Amino acid sequence: MVDLHEAARKVLRTVRPHIGEGKVATYIPALGEVDPKQFGFAVASVDGDVYGVGDQDVRFSLQSISKVFTLALVLSHDDEAIWKRVHREPSGSAFNSLFQLEFEKGIPRNPFINAGAIVVTDQLLADTGDALGSLRGLLRAETGNPDLHVDSVTAASESETGHRNRALAHLMADFGNMLNPVEHALDHYFRQCSITISAQELARAGLLLARHGLRADGSRLLTPKDARRIVSLMLTCGPYDAAGEFAYRIGLPCKSGVGGGILAVVPDRCAAVAWGPGLDEHGNSVTAALALDTFDSLTGWSIF
Ligand code: GLU
Repeated sequence: MVDLHEAARKVLRTVRPHIGEGKVATYIPALGEVDPKQFGFAVASVDGDVYGVGDQDVRFSLQSISKVFTLALVLSHDDEAIWKRVHREPSGSAFNSLFQLEFEKGIPRNPFINAGAIVVTDQLLADTGDALGSLRGLLRAETGNPDLHVDSVTAASESETGHRNRALAHLMADFGNMLNPVEHALDHYFRQCSITISAQELARAGLLLARHGLRADGSRLLTPKDARRIVSLMLTCGPYDAAGEFAYRIGLPCKSGVGGGILAVVPDRCAAVAWGPGLDEHGNSVTAALALDTFDSLTGWSIF
Protein backbone atom coordinates (compact mmCIF):
# COMPACT_ATOMS: atom_id res chain seq x y z
CA MET A 1 0.00 0.00 0.00
CA VAL A 2 1.56 3.29 -1.13
CA ASP A 3 1.22 6.28 1.23
CA LEU A 4 0.70 9.05 -1.32
CA HIS A 5 1.06 11.85 1.20
CA GLU A 6 4.43 10.52 2.29
CA ALA A 7 5.44 9.98 -1.35
CA ALA A 8 4.56 13.62 -2.15
CA ARG A 9 6.64 14.84 0.81
CA LYS A 10 9.61 12.74 -0.34
CA VAL A 11 9.26 14.11 -3.86
CA LEU A 12 9.53 17.65 -2.47
CA ARG A 13 12.59 16.72 -0.39
CA THR A 14 14.33 15.32 -3.48
CA VAL A 15 13.43 18.21 -5.75
CA ARG A 16 14.08 21.06 -3.26
CA PRO A 17 17.83 21.48 -4.00
CA HIS A 18 17.00 21.77 -7.71
CA ILE A 19 14.23 24.37 -7.53
CA GLY A 20 15.03 27.22 -9.92
CA GLU A 21 16.97 25.04 -12.38
CA GLY A 22 16.24 25.26 -16.11
CA LYS A 23 15.21 28.30 -18.15
CA VAL A 24 11.72 29.79 -18.22
CA ALA A 25 10.21 30.01 -21.70
CA THR A 26 10.77 33.50 -23.08
CA TYR A 27 9.46 33.10 -26.63
CA ILE A 28 6.08 33.92 -25.11
CA PRO A 29 7.14 37.10 -23.25
CA ALA A 30 4.50 36.78 -20.50
CA LEU A 31 5.89 33.37 -19.50
CA GLY A 32 9.34 34.91 -19.17
CA GLU A 33 8.04 36.99 -16.24
CA VAL A 34 7.30 33.94 -14.06
CA ASP A 35 9.49 33.49 -10.95
CA PRO A 36 11.53 30.31 -11.65
CA LYS A 37 11.96 29.53 -7.95
CA GLN A 38 8.63 27.79 -7.56
CA PHE A 39 7.69 24.13 -7.42
CA GLY A 40 4.41 22.34 -6.81
CA PHE A 41 3.39 18.71 -6.86
CA ALA A 42 -0.01 17.09 -6.43
CA VAL A 43 -1.41 13.58 -6.77
CA ALA A 44 -5.14 12.86 -7.11
CA SER A 45 -6.08 9.25 -6.47
CA VAL A 46 -8.92 7.64 -8.41
CA ASP A 47 -11.00 7.51 -5.23
CA GLY A 48 -10.89 11.31 -5.08
CA ASP A 49 -8.23 12.14 -2.46
CA VAL A 50 -5.67 14.78 -3.36
CA TYR A 51 -2.21 15.05 -1.80
CA GLY A 52 -0.07 18.07 -2.57
CA VAL A 53 3.14 19.77 -1.50
CA GLY A 54 5.02 23.00 -2.21
CA ASP A 55 3.34 25.50 -4.53
CA GLN A 56 0.52 23.07 -5.27
CA ASP A 57 -2.06 25.90 -5.19
CA VAL A 58 -0.23 28.40 -7.36
CA ARG A 59 -1.77 28.70 -10.79
CA PHE A 60 0.49 28.38 -13.82
CA SER A 61 -0.02 28.53 -17.58
CA LEU A 62 -1.56 25.27 -18.84
CA GLN A 63 -0.03 25.62 -22.32
CA SER A 64 0.34 22.34 -24.22
CA ILE A 65 -1.28 20.26 -21.50
CA SER A 66 -4.55 21.78 -22.77
CA LYS A 67 -4.07 19.66 -25.90
CA VAL A 68 -4.94 16.48 -23.99
CA PHE A 69 -8.32 17.86 -23.02
CA THR A 70 -9.23 19.37 -26.40
CA LEU A 71 -8.48 15.98 -27.97
CA ALA A 72 -10.71 14.33 -25.36
CA LEU A 73 -13.53 16.73 -26.24
CA VAL A 74 -13.18 16.13 -29.97
CA LEU A 75 -13.19 12.36 -29.49
CA SER A 76 -16.20 12.69 -27.20
CA HIS A 77 -18.13 13.99 -30.21
CA ASP A 78 -17.45 10.61 -31.78
CA ASP A 79 -15.25 12.38 -34.23
CA GLU A 80 -13.23 9.76 -36.04
CA ALA A 81 -12.90 12.42 -38.75
CA ILE A 82 -10.06 13.96 -36.75
CA TRP A 83 -7.81 11.02 -37.66
CA LYS A 84 -8.04 12.00 -41.32
CA ARG A 85 -6.63 15.40 -40.35
CA VAL A 86 -3.83 14.42 -37.96
CA HIS A 87 -1.58 11.36 -37.57
CA ARG A 88 -0.56 9.53 -34.41
CA GLU A 89 3.22 9.20 -34.74
CA PRO A 90 5.97 10.90 -32.72
CA SER A 91 7.41 13.72 -34.79
CA GLY A 92 11.09 13.47 -33.91
CA SER A 93 11.30 17.24 -34.24
CA ALA A 94 10.49 20.31 -32.16
CA PHE A 95 6.87 20.97 -31.15
CA ASN A 96 6.65 24.04 -33.37
CA SER A 97 8.62 22.75 -36.34
CA LEU A 98 7.42 23.60 -39.84
CA PHE A 99 9.45 21.45 -42.19
CA GLN A 100 7.71 18.09 -41.65
CA LEU A 101 4.33 19.66 -42.32
CA GLU A 102 5.37 20.69 -45.81
CA PHE A 103 6.68 17.20 -46.66
CA GLU A 104 3.59 15.55 -45.25
CA LYS A 105 1.13 17.74 -47.12
CA GLY A 106 -0.35 19.64 -44.23
CA ILE A 107 -1.20 16.62 -42.06
CA PRO A 108 0.55 17.03 -38.68
CA ARG A 109 2.36 14.07 -37.13
CA ASN A 110 0.32 13.97 -33.93
CA PRO A 111 -2.25 15.97 -31.90
CA PHE A 112 0.29 17.18 -29.34
CA ILE A 113 2.71 19.13 -31.53
CA ASN A 114 1.45 22.64 -32.22
CA ALA A 115 0.23 21.98 -35.77
CA GLY A 116 -1.73 18.92 -34.62
CA ALA A 117 -3.20 20.77 -31.68
CA ILE A 118 -4.30 23.66 -33.89
CA VAL A 119 -6.14 21.12 -36.09
CA VAL A 120 -7.81 19.59 -33.01
CA THR A 121 -8.90 23.03 -31.78
CA ASP A 122 -10.15 23.86 -35.27
CA GLN A 123 -12.19 20.63 -35.24
CA LEU A 124 -13.58 21.37 -31.77
CA LEU A 125 -14.53 24.85 -32.94
CA ALA A 126 -16.37 23.35 -35.92
CA ASP A 127 -18.07 20.77 -33.67
CA THR A 128 -19.16 23.11 -30.89
CA GLY A 129 -18.92 26.71 -32.11
CA ASP A 130 -16.78 27.52 -29.04
CA ALA A 131 -13.62 25.46 -28.54
CA LEU A 132 -12.31 27.57 -25.68
CA GLY A 133 -15.69 27.62 -23.92
CA SER A 134 -15.98 23.82 -24.19
CA LEU A 135 -12.51 23.28 -22.78
CA ARG A 136 -12.95 25.81 -19.99
CA GLY A 137 -16.31 24.24 -19.10
CA LEU A 138 -14.77 20.78 -18.92
CA LEU A 139 -11.87 21.91 -16.76
CA ARG A 140 -14.13 23.91 -14.45
CA ALA A 141 -16.32 20.85 -13.95
CA GLU A 142 -13.47 18.38 -13.46
CA THR A 143 -11.51 20.61 -11.08
CA GLY A 144 -14.63 21.73 -9.25
CA ASN A 145 -13.49 25.36 -9.64
CA PRO A 146 -15.93 27.59 -11.52
CA ASP A 147 -13.45 30.48 -11.49
CA LEU A 148 -10.84 28.79 -13.69
CA HIS A 149 -10.00 31.37 -16.37
CA VAL A 150 -7.80 32.44 -19.24
CA ASP A 151 -4.94 34.78 -18.38
CA SER A 152 -5.56 37.52 -20.93
CA VAL A 153 -2.04 38.96 -20.67
CA THR A 154 -0.51 35.60 -21.63
CA ALA A 155 -3.07 35.11 -24.41
CA ALA A 156 -2.25 38.54 -25.86
CA SER A 157 1.47 37.83 -25.54
CA GLU A 158 1.03 34.50 -27.40
CA SER A 159 -0.97 36.14 -30.13
CA GLU A 160 1.48 39.01 -30.62
CA THR A 161 4.44 36.67 -30.98
CA GLY A 162 2.68 33.67 -32.55
CA HIS A 163 4.28 33.95 -35.99
CA ARG A 164 5.28 30.29 -36.10
CA ASN A 165 1.82 29.08 -35.11
CA ARG A 166 0.34 31.36 -37.77
CA ALA A 167 2.77 29.92 -40.32
CA LEU A 168 1.74 26.36 -39.34
CA ALA A 169 -1.96 27.17 -39.57
CA HIS A 170 -1.66 28.98 -42.91
CA LEU A 171 0.36 26.10 -44.36
CA MET A 172 -2.35 23.68 -43.26
CA ALA A 173 -5.03 25.98 -44.69
CA ASP A 174 -3.14 25.94 -47.98
CA PHE A 175 -3.34 22.12 -47.95
CA GLY A 176 -7.08 22.32 -47.16
CA ASN A 177 -6.67 21.14 -43.57
CA MET A 178 -8.39 24.01 -41.74
CA LEU A 179 -12.17 24.27 -41.36
CA ASN A 180 -12.31 27.75 -39.83
CA PRO A 181 -10.52 30.96 -40.75
CA VAL A 182 -6.96 30.75 -39.43
CA GLU A 183 -7.20 33.75 -37.09
CA HIS A 184 -10.45 32.50 -35.56
CA ALA A 185 -9.02 29.04 -34.80
CA LEU A 186 -5.77 30.53 -33.50
CA ASP A 187 -7.62 32.88 -31.19
CA HIS A 188 -9.17 29.83 -29.50
CA TYR A 189 -5.83 27.99 -29.52
CA PHE A 190 -3.89 30.88 -27.93
CA ARG A 191 -6.52 31.31 -25.24
CA GLN A 192 -6.79 27.58 -24.44
CA CYS A 193 -3.01 27.53 -23.85
CA SER A 194 -3.32 30.57 -21.57
CA ILE A 195 -5.72 29.00 -19.07
CA THR A 196 -4.14 29.14 -15.62
CA ILE A 197 -4.49 26.18 -13.30
CA SER A 198 -2.78 24.84 -10.18
CA ALA A 199 -1.08 21.45 -9.81
CA GLN A 200 -3.83 20.37 -7.47
CA GLU A 201 -6.59 21.40 -9.89
CA LEU A 202 -4.91 19.81 -12.88
CA ALA A 203 -4.36 16.54 -11.01
CA ARG A 204 -8.11 16.42 -10.35
CA ALA A 205 -8.84 17.06 -14.03
CA GLY A 206 -6.36 14.35 -15.04
CA LEU A 207 -8.46 11.77 -13.25
CA LEU A 208 -10.68 11.81 -16.32
CA LEU A 209 -8.01 9.66 -17.98
CA ALA A 210 -6.96 7.66 -14.93
CA ARG A 211 -10.64 6.66 -14.69
CA HIS A 212 -10.78 5.64 -18.37
CA GLY A 213 -13.03 8.48 -19.47
CA LEU A 214 -15.32 8.87 -16.44
CA ARG A 215 -15.95 12.43 -15.31
CA ALA A 216 -15.93 13.69 -11.73
CA ASP A 217 -19.74 13.52 -11.62
CA GLY A 218 -19.66 9.85 -12.68
CA SER A 219 -20.91 10.46 -16.22
CA ARG A 220 -18.88 9.22 -19.16
CA LEU A 221 -17.06 11.63 -21.51
CA LEU A 222 -14.95 9.09 -23.40
CA THR A 223 -15.23 5.43 -24.21
CA PRO A 224 -12.57 3.41 -22.35
CA LYS A 225 -10.96 2.77 -25.72
CA ASP A 226 -10.64 6.48 -26.55
CA ALA A 227 -9.31 7.21 -23.05
CA ARG A 228 -6.67 4.52 -23.53
CA ARG A 229 -5.78 5.92 -26.95
CA ILE A 230 -5.21 9.41 -25.52
CA VAL A 231 -3.00 7.98 -22.77
CA SER A 232 -1.01 6.03 -25.36
CA LEU A 233 -0.43 9.24 -27.31
CA MET A 234 0.75 10.93 -24.12
CA LEU A 235 3.36 8.21 -23.74
CA THR A 236 4.59 8.35 -27.36
CA CYS A 237 4.17 12.08 -28.09
CA GLY A 238 3.49 13.94 -24.81
CA PRO A 239 6.89 15.21 -23.64
CA TYR A 240 7.86 16.82 -26.97
CA ASP A 241 10.91 15.35 -28.60
CA ALA A 242 11.94 13.59 -25.38
CA ALA A 243 9.11 11.05 -25.26
CA GLY A 244 11.54 8.14 -25.60
CA GLU A 245 13.68 9.43 -22.75
CA PHE A 246 10.60 9.97 -20.57
CA ALA A 247 9.31 6.44 -21.24
CA TYR A 248 12.76 5.07 -20.37
CA ARG A 249 13.30 7.21 -17.30
CA ILE A 250 9.79 7.66 -15.85
CA GLY A 251 7.63 5.04 -17.55
CA LEU A 252 4.40 7.02 -17.20
CA PRO A 253 2.25 8.63 -19.89
CA CYS A 254 2.92 12.37 -19.54
CA LYS A 255 2.04 15.65 -21.20
CA SER A 256 4.26 18.69 -20.74
CA GLY A 257 3.61 22.37 -21.31
CA VAL A 258 6.04 25.25 -21.71
CA GLY A 259 4.47 26.81 -18.61
CA GLY A 260 6.50 24.18 -16.71
CA GLY A 261 3.71 21.76 -15.85
CA ILE A 262 3.70 18.02 -16.53
CA LEU A 263 0.60 15.87 -16.15
CA ALA A 264 1.19 12.13 -15.65
CA VAL A 265 -1.54 9.51 -15.69
CA VAL A 266 -1.39 6.15 -13.94
CA PRO A 267 -4.50 4.31 -15.17
CA ASP A 268 -6.68 2.93 -12.35
CA ARG A 269 -4.51 4.65 -9.72
CA CYS A 270 -3.97 8.39 -9.99
CA ALA A 271 -3.14 11.52 -11.91
CA ALA A 272 0.00 13.34 -10.79
CA VAL A 273 1.05 16.89 -11.69
CA ALA A 274 4.42 18.47 -11.12
CA TRP A 275 5.18 22.10 -11.90
CA GLY A 276 8.39 24.11 -12.00
CA PRO A 277 8.81 26.94 -14.54
CA GLY A 278 12.43 26.18 -15.58
CA LEU A 279 12.63 24.11 -18.79
CA ASP A 280 15.31 21.94 -20.40
CA GLU A 281 16.35 22.17 -24.05
CA HIS A 282 13.31 20.15 -25.21
CA GLY A 283 10.80 22.35 -23.35
CA ASN A 284 10.16 19.95 -20.45
CA SER A 285 10.33 21.27 -16.89
CA VAL A 286 13.54 20.17 -15.18
CA THR A 287 12.07 19.92 -11.68
CA ALA A 288 8.74 18.45 -12.80
CA ALA A 289 10.55 15.65 -14.67
CA LEU A 290 12.71 14.98 -11.60
CA ALA A 291 9.59 14.94 -9.42
CA LEU A 292 7.84 12.37 -11.62
CA ASP A 293 11.00 10.27 -11.85
CA THR A 294 11.15 10.26 -8.05
CA PHE A 295 7.42 9.54 -7.74
CA ASP A 296 7.79 6.57 -10.06
CA SER A 297 10.73 5.20 -8.04
CA LEU A 298 8.82 5.60 -4.77
CA THR A 299 5.60 3.97 -5.99
CA GLY A 300 6.89 1.51 -8.60
CA TRP A 301 3.94 2.59 -10.76
CA SER A 302 5.80 2.71 -14.06
CA ILE A 303 3.52 1.09 -16.63
CA PHE A 304 6.43 -1.10 -17.79
N1 GLU B 1 1.12 28.04 -26.62
C1 GLU B 1 2.36 27.39 -26.86
C2 GLU B 1 2.75 27.52 -28.31
O1 GLU B 1 1.92 27.47 -29.14
C3 GLU B 1 2.24 25.95 -26.47
C4 GLU B 1 3.56 25.28 -26.50
C5 GLU B 1 3.73 24.22 -25.47
O2 GLU B 1 3.35 24.31 -24.32
O3 GLU B 1 4.32 23.22 -25.90
O4 GLU B 1 3.89 27.70 -28.64
